[in-house]
This record gives sequence, structure tokens and C-alpha cells, in this order.
Amino acid sequence: MSNNNSTAPVQEFEYKAEMKQLLDLIVHSLYTHPEIYLRELISNASDALSKVRFNALTDQDILDKESELAVRITIDSKEMTFSIQDSGVGMTEEELIANLGTVAKSGTLSFMQSLKEQQKQLDGNLIGQFGVGFYSVFMVTEEVTVETRSARPDSQGYRWRSGGQGTYTIEKIDKADRGTTISFKLKEEHKEFAEEYRVEQIIKKYSNFVDFPIYLGEKQVNSVTALWQRSKGELKDEEVNEFYKFIANDYNDPLDYLPVSVEGMVTFKALLFLPQEAPPDMLYRQGELENHGPQLYVKKVLIQNECRDLLPEYLRFIAGVVDTEDLSLNVSREVVQSSPVMAKIRQILTGKILGWFETLAKEQPEKFKTFYKAFGPIIKIGLNTDFTNRDKLIELLRFESTKTAEGEYITLKEYSDRMGADQKEIYYHSGTSRGQLLAHPNLEYFQDMGIEVLLLSDPVDVFVIPSIHEYDKKPLKSIEKPDIDFSKQKPVKEGAEPLPENLLSPVLQLFRETLGEDIEDVIESHRLVNSPVTLVSGKDGLDSQMEKIMKMMQANMPSAKKILEINTSHPIIRNLSGMVIADAGNPLIRTVIRQLYEGALFLEGGLDSTTAFLSRMNELIEVATLSR
Ligand code: ADP
Repeated sequence: MSNNNSTAPVQEFEYKAEMKQLLDLIVHSLYTHPEIYLRELISNASDALSKVRFNALTDQDILDKESELAVRITIDSKEMTFSIQDSGVGMTEEELIANLGTVAKSGTLSFMQSLKEQQKQLDGNLIGQFGVGFYSVFMVTEEVTVETRSARPDSQGYRWRSGGQGTYTIEKIDKADRGTTISFKLKEEHKEFAEEYRVEQIIKKYSNFVDFPIYLGEKQVNSVTALWQRSKGELKDEEVNEFYKFIANDYNDPLDYLPVSVEGMVTFKALLFLPQEAPPDMLYRQGELENHGPQLYVKKVLIQNECRDLLPEYLRFIAGVVDTEDLSLNVSREVVQSSPVMAKIRQILTGKILGWFETLAKEQPEKFKTFYKAFGPIIKIGLNTDFTNRDKLIELLRFESTKTAEGEYITLKEYSDRMGADQKEIYYHSGTSRGQLLAHPNLEYFQDMGIEVLLLSDPVDVFVIPSIHEYDKKPLKSIEKPDIDFSKQKPVKEGAEPLPENLLSPVLQLFRETLGEDIEDVIESHRLVNSPVTLVSGKDGLDSQMEKIMKMMQANMPSAKKILEINTSHPIIRNLSGMVIADAGNPLIRTVIRQLYEGALFLEGGLDSTTAFLSRMNELIEVATLSR
């Protein structure tokens, strides 16, 4: 321990303006559980120890090279004092000012304020991530003393002191060993944090898996165990789940976990976790999981948190630990990135993970469903980026179809296995929701003939599914395409025969004249049963859902022309044919044709203005009511 026999002056500093407000927020409104302060201090100590362990790998001149890497907590329940000491990297004077006198990340204050406005409590995962954890100590004390000495060989000890009220002081002190000691007297209402049972309980709750021993007095409280070094049979779910919550900063248990042990070309052990829910940033920026990935250890030493190179980008939602013997301890980030060992590990892990998903699907379908609901979009993105594993990823895809209940899925294999012998293609229909898809006229033929159609309503689908081209030698085809095999037809109902050619062609002619440049063509439909008309893609047109999404991204993209199909057995079309024979110049015919076309557009979500549509509707209602 240090004693202050130096004559150097005590210097006073002001916190940056932002800092004062931040402190005020932290101390007075954001936390509901003051015990969090202990987790934050231990986590800082553990980071400082990790840094010194890492630096010692390359730096011979580190101070106290041989000293034990540990956290020591000393409490005195009579005096209500608390102190936590670590033998970590410590801080220089500049570091003290930079780290404990300023807000680390810009925007932190406004973020915290918005949380406060939303009445959100910060006890959970967020505080640590915003670089303000240290200040939580001001919840339980009036004044904090930090004594620290950097691990650099020529370093000097400093004492930092603050009442969290706007200023802090720094003075030089004699401090024999490297590392940091933080000490304070507890506020009366928080004296429980000087009670041994209570402190032990909190450490067990939040910090049990910290990588270094935590001593409370003489006793080690946490269980420093590298769980990933154990074999599957030695792992207990409860312990593994706790470990997951600790490393992933998650409240929930993982959905599932996978221990991996590989020996051969490369040797490594891993413990991987599937979270129950997708991280929020994944939903905002699909597929971009920049700051995710398992931790990389080399021979039980933490080398990198959130190592991006262990997994392909689309699998970075997997949390966990990977520990290898095959990298040298003093690897730099650049070396990690380009190392063939890493490439090999990534390749093996990817295979294991995809195998894991496959097994889940087979053996625990409910779990797999939960997984797929959360991470399905990412798997689909993988399909377009990981060509080596494309076939495996395709098998993982799940779809609702016209023959599944809502929320039930089938695979392409199941579809393919149960399709009729004379069906040559796999059909899909894409749109925004199951309800909208099922109501679409383009589905009528398929429903009528009992042909299954996959219903795609995930926005990612239109970018991914068309790229599959075929499965099991059967082409995948959107039911919007004009060239579908409609050769199999149901027997025609009495009184609903299609118009014969000589009656049909004048009707088609009038449709074409009326709609002109708005459409590519008007043709007789074979897919409609109950609806009079429908729009389908033009010969080179995009799928309409894809077009809609692309338009959202690129406002002035021109619409591709569509083909209007008409159902010549439908009473409206048959009546129109009668009107054409009676008087082809009757203006009502054109009004009806426009209305039918715009009605079809409306259904697709492609009708830009409803004004003309509605006034035409009123015109037609007027005619209909007139004859009564
Ligand atoms: P965070 O740890 O999230 O960055 P904190 O407010 O808890 O935010 O800490 C600010 C910084 O102070 C840390 O990033 C670290 O650089 C430094 N620090 C805090 N505690 C210690 C410690 N025990 N040893 C060395 N440095 C520390």
C-alpha cells in the first residue's frame, strides 16, 4: 500500500461540462441496483489485468513481471470501507486525466439522456458498453480515491480523488507496485457492501467467470475455470448458461450451445452459443455484424474480444470462446487476420456450426424454429456470400406455403418430395404478408389444382430465393412469371366456358387500345379462377415484390411494364364481350377496362393515385343503381 510522503502539490481539475451532467444522471436516475458498481469495478480490474498479461508477452521491461495477476477486495464492516486492488496495467497521469476525467465516447451523454427520458434503467447490459462504468461508484460513496501506477518501467504513482461533484485532484505518490487500488467509505445506506456475505454474493452473481482470481480477504470467491477446456460430459447446463450470460452480456439463457474440440491440422477448443434473440443492430442493418464474434484465446490467454476473423460475417451472431494452441501468444491483430491458422479454424468452425443447425433442425425442431425466426434472414444472406456452404444453407431454409398453417414451415426437400409427379417446377409467390399473398388472384389456379406454392414474405427473400434457380433439378419459379405450364386444366363448368376465339379477339383488342403504353400486353389467362383480371411480370420483368423493394431504395426507378391477363370465363369479361358486340364505341366499356386494370394495380400496391380510381368507381355505381 502507498503512503503519501511526497511534497509535490495537489492539482485540482474540473470535469468537462458534459461529465458533470453525466455523473448526475448516473448517480441520481439511471441505476436501480447500486450493487452494479461492484461488477463495473471488477470488470475494469479484469480488463487492466488482461492488458498487462497481453503486454507482458512482448514486453520484457514490464514492471513487476512476476507478480500474481489477481483482484483483491478488502472490506471493513465497522469502518464501512471498501477497497479493490488489481495488479493490472495501471495508469499514467495522462491516462488518469483522459480515462477518469472525460467521457470516453462522444454522444454518450445524449444517449444516456434519451434513455432517461424513456425511463429505461441502465442496470443491464448497456452501461459497460458506454465507458461510464467507473462512475457508478458514486452511487455508494461520497468520495473515491484511486491510487495507480502504470506497468511501464519508468512509471510513477498517482493519487486521483473526487467527490463526483465537478472537480477531481491528482497528486504524485510513492507506490511500490504496478496496478490500481480504488478505495472509499460507503454511504450509510449502502453499508451492506462492506459485509462479506453480500459482497461474495454479488461477485458470484456477476463476476464468477472473470478470468483472474478475485480474493475477498484471504478467500478466492470466483471459480476461474476455462469451461471450454472441458469435454461435453463435464459441462453442466446451468454453469454453461451462466458463463454465456457473462461473456455475451445477455440477460437470457442461450438457446443452445456447442462444445467443439478439434485436433489435427489445427488444434483448438471452442464453446459456442446461440442467443435466443438477434442483436438489435442486426435488425437495423441486416447482415452487418461488425462488432460481434467469439472471443479469441491463445493457450487460455484472451487475445481479442469479438474476434471478427473466427467466423464468416453472416455467422457472427454466434457468441463464445475459441482457444487455440496454434497461434503464438504475441500475435498482433494484423497477423491474426491473415494467418492461415485462422482461415483453417474459420473453415472448420463454419462447418461445425452449420452441422449444429442441421442437427437442431432434426432433433429439436421447436428450438430450430425459434432460431430460424430470429436468424433466418442472416442465413439467407449467407447463401449469397458463402458459396462453399451454399448447399448446406439451402437445406436450412424454411418456408410457409399454401399447404402449411400460419407460422409452420417446410423445407425445399419436403416440398420437392411431396409435389405431384407431373409437376416440373417449384413455385413461389412473394409479397408482404401471408394474408395478402393468399388473397392474390395469381394463386387461384394453383389453389384450384392443389399445387403447393411457397409463400415468401421476408423482405430478404426476393434477393435470395430467385438466385437458387433450381433444387433437386427442379427450377424455382415465381408464379407471376408469364410462362408457367398451365396445361393441366380442371373440367370447365357449365355456363362458364372460356370465350371462343372469334369473340375473344375484339375484347383483347379493346383492352389493348384502352390501356396502350401502360402495359406490355393483354392476353387470355389460364391461371385465374374467380377473378376477372390479374397482372403478371412482363417477359423480362422483375418479380413485383422485388420491384417494390428496389423502388423503396431508389425513388425514381421506372416501373417495368406488366402483362394483363384476363379470365375469359368470368362473367364480367363475358358481359363485356356482349357489350362489344352491341356497340364497341360504348364509353362504358373503356371505363370498365380501366377500372379492372387499376383494380389489379391496386392489389399489387402499385396504384399511385386513388382519386381517378374512386371517381370511376362512383361512375360505375351510378350506372349499376340506375337500372334498379
Ligand atoms: P470503460 O471501462 O467502459 O471504458 P470506465 O468508466 O469504467 O469505462 O473506465 C474508464 C477507463 O478508465 C477505462 O477504459 C480504463 O482505461 C480506465 N480504468 C478504469 N479502471 C481501471 C483500472 N482498474 N486499471 C486501469 N485502468 C482503469
